[in-house]
Amino acid sequence: MNAKEISLARAKELSNSINDFMAFKEKALHKMAGNRKEYKNTKAKLLDYYNADESNWNDWHWQMKHRITDVETLVNFIHLSQNEVQNVKKLSKTNRFAIVPYYLALITTEQNDPIKMLSVPSKGEYAVDLGKDDPMAEEFTNPAGSITRRYPDRLIINVTNICAMYCRHCQRRRLIGETDGHTSQSLIDESIAYIKQTPEIRDVLITGGDAFLLSDHQIENLLKALRQIDHVEIIRFGTRTPVTMPMRITDNLTNILKRYHPVFVNTQYNHYHELTKESMYASQKLADAGIVVGNQAVLLKGVNDDKYVMTLLNQRLLQARVRPYYIFHAKEVKGTHHFMPTIAKGLEIMSYLRGHTSGLAIPTYIFNAPGGLGKIPLLPQYIISHEDSTYRIKTWEGKIIEYTEK
Ligand SMILES: *Cc1c(COP(=O)(O)O)cnc(C)c1O
Ligand code: SF4
Repeated sequence: MNAKEISLARAKELSNSINDFMAFKEKALHKMAGNRKEYKNTKAKLLDYYNADESNWNDWHWQMKHRITDVETLVNFIHLSQNEVQNVKKLSKTNRFAIVPYYLALITTEQNDPIKMLSVPSKGEYAVDLGKDDPMAEEFTNPAGSITRRYPDRLIINVTNICAMYCRHCQRRRLIGETDGHTSQSLIDESIAYIKQTPEIRDVLITGGDAFLLSDHQIENLLKALRQIDHVEIIRFGTRTPVTMPMRITDNLTNILKRYHPVFVNTQYNHYHELTKESMYASQKLADAGIVVGNQAVLLKGVNDDKYVMTLLNQRLLQARVRPYYIFHAKEVKGTHHFMPTIAKGLEIMSYLRGHTSGLAIPTYIFNAPGGLGKIPLLPQYIISHEDSTYRIKTWEGKIIEYTEK
């Protein structure tokens, strides 16, 4: 075979190696078009029910005011069996549930709908004998105010316990509590004072809850205070609003954020169904304001612990100009055991991503050490063995090569 023939044969082999994924993707995108119709129907029902219009829908204050928090209201919009109704009723007493109309409208009638799994209480939550309330021991990493410090040069300030939707897998569910509340001004002031006195802190993460549930004014005040500290180099926000309530990303908000650069936003898309037109627009809008948007997905059994689902999620994130940053292995939090994936699954996904899709679409897979000991990256084994200066290394396709350092 000449060079051209070899190249053509190899190209064919490469095409064949993603046939299965291409078939999956085509079906998934087709189904998403169908979801869109269901979304429009549910949205119309919700608008009718609340006697509201499009401009209300696009107003995040309206969305927050009309969060669905009881099963009696919920059953008007999604189908639940008698058992499911009882489960929601009981479980929402111990771990509150609330869903903004926008996110609720994304639930489809499909079996095991990922949006429904992420947002509606289900029987798996009864298993509270497994896991802990606080596996990360955050209580012991709180030197001042509402800070969590686990690393030398960066820390978290918790500014609220409010979210647009309470994720059923939430790792901080113990803090979500029963009532909404932002962190008190005195705790925020204490946190800022601590950062001011701690010159090695160069990276501040503002999170909660959901940091973008603060008002624009509160966000600006925080940014102003942090920017008065010379050693604070970068500021990051942790928010799910681009996913769960994209109308939060208003012109006013992006205009504020871009005055305090470098500002980064990390969000949490877990499934490609969450990458709707509205949501992609919100993330693109942040990017247009010069903000680097990263994604921190959580690996969740039955939702996204599948190599094709993860590949499509990460590809669509890039289309929304969101860079996949982390995939977190779920933590053993009480009442979330039904979401626990296996590490083997996580590694299988990572090993599939490398080579089969853009390097930009590949996040780091993180296992959080229990007890708050920090993030640990997990990687498939690429170095098979190593003796003196000779290494046996596996390629993305599983071919073993040998390399000797000269
Ligand atoms: C995850 C985390 C950070 C940020 O870690 P990066 O790897 O820099 O994104 C900072 N502080 C705490 C307490 C964290 O849990
Ligand atoms: S947005 Fe974050 S803090 Fe809020 S419920 Fe979801 S995972 Fe928990």
